Amino acid sequence: MTHTPFGFSTVADIHLQWGGSKSLGDLLSARFQTRRSLLVTDRGLIDAGLIEPVEKSLRAAGFDVTIFDQVVADPPEAIVTGCADMAKSRDIDMVIGLGGGSSLDIAKLVAILIANDQPLSDMYGIGNVKGKRADLVLVPTTAGTGSEVTNISIITTGETTKMGVVAPQLYADFVLLDAELTIGLPKIHTAATGIDAMVHAIEAYTSKFRKNPLSDALAREALRLLGTNLIAACEDGTNREARENMLLGAMLAGQAFANSPVAAVHALAYPLGGHYHLPHGLTNALMLGPVLRFNASVAAPHYAELADVLNVPGTGDVQARASAFVAHMEDLMDQSGAPRRLRDVNVTDNSLSMLARDAMKQSRLLVNNPVDVTEEDALALYREAF
Ligand SMILES: [Zn+2]
Repeated sequence: MTHTPFGFSTVADIHLQWGGSKSLGDLLSARFQTRRSLLVTDRGLIDAGLIEPVEKSLRAAGFDVTIFDQVVADPPEAIVTGCADMAKSRDIDMVIGLGGGSSLDIAKLVAILIANDQPLSDMYGIGNVKGKRADLVLVPTTAGTGSEVTNISIITTGETTKMGVVAPQLYADFVLLDAELTIGLPKIHTAATGIDAMVHAIEAYTSKFRKNPLSDALAREALRLLGTNLIAACEDGTNREARENMLLGAMLAGQAFANSPVAAVHALAYPLGGHYHLPHGLTNALMLGPVLRFNASVAAPHYAELADVLNVPGTGDVQARASAFVAHMEDLMDQSGAPRRLRDVNVTDNSLSMLARDAMKQSRLLVNNPVDVTEEDALALYREAF
């Protein structure tokens, strides 16, 4: 078999260690010369006691530590620029993002903003970041976004629109995967973030243009790990094996979709997050079933392969195996306890056409979908999810 040309990029230095965040200082002092660190996180993690041991370990290893704890879900631009201004005033030379996807996305942009004069508003889109960045370390506390290994930051602009910055400078220098940080995550968030990670694997595997042998291998292994550990992690949040495999799976899915981008599930999920402030993982879980069925006309051979990856029982032709895969995903989502319909999360019937209109703005994502999505299609998909 010959290959069409492809490239693949990821974070060069990734370390997995249960409880590793308690030795973050030693892990970083061995790798970096910089010592004036900014820890980007949210208030909830501080209140949960997760930040104190990290801060202690950093100080013990000789780091100055400034904490920025004002990260919120669906972060607006003002939080990013405010954090960057504060970091500049303190001569920060290392940014550590520790938290969910929002904390990591903000840390990535702040590391660039403090090293350059380019305004954030010039960075949206693909490849528009001009300069270098400060040292960047990412430590995820959810097994979902994969942001720790992607070159993407998602920021809310204006009232409701989610925009992406995509640039090679957003790949971190070092990632720590410490699944112990995820054990306090409530069941509903474990379910939603885990399904989001599965969506990353599936959309990378069926992406129209940049799917390649490396992204495929990563997506398959990600889906296997996530699909066989999701329910165990939901049922017992302290299950170390399930938690580690979910975090590993989410990271592998992140590596896959950073190179073979996500598509219509995400394009339709973003307006739900923007207008209703629903968590990213949940919005993806709500749209996955309808989009899988919509895409099956073209993606059935890939879905049939993924049915085998997940050991979905049964035999049959490609269409039968693809249907079995979609049914298996629906069943996993039911078992996980995640809400399954838009009306269950207070989305209103009369907002669906506005959501469909907004989804069309996500052209960066829609171009990757195996089947073209028109505004009428988007509306039909929201109706199906309603
Ligand atoms: Zn996602």
